[in-house]
Amino acid sequence: MKLEINNKYCIRCGLCEDLYPDLFKRNFEEHCIDVLHEELPAELEERAKQAVADCAVAMIRLVK
Ligand code: SF4
Repeated sequence: MKLEINNKYCIRCGLCEDLYPDLFKRNFEEHCIDVLHEELPAELEERAKQAVADCAVAMIRLVK
């Protein structure tokens, strides 16, 4: 599975990095949020699902 962020509509609130620093990192140079794992490790899948649910504007998604 992979995590994706729609950076076009992400409001840069920073919540995802604050709560899940093992999954996301702010990219200040490119004004976006980076996903840290190209392929999501299995042990992080539950946290990734929670991150999807926590984004207030639903700009994080899990894809197979
Ligand atoms: S929680 Fe959602 S809106 Fe906020 S920075 Fe992360 S992806 Fe963007």
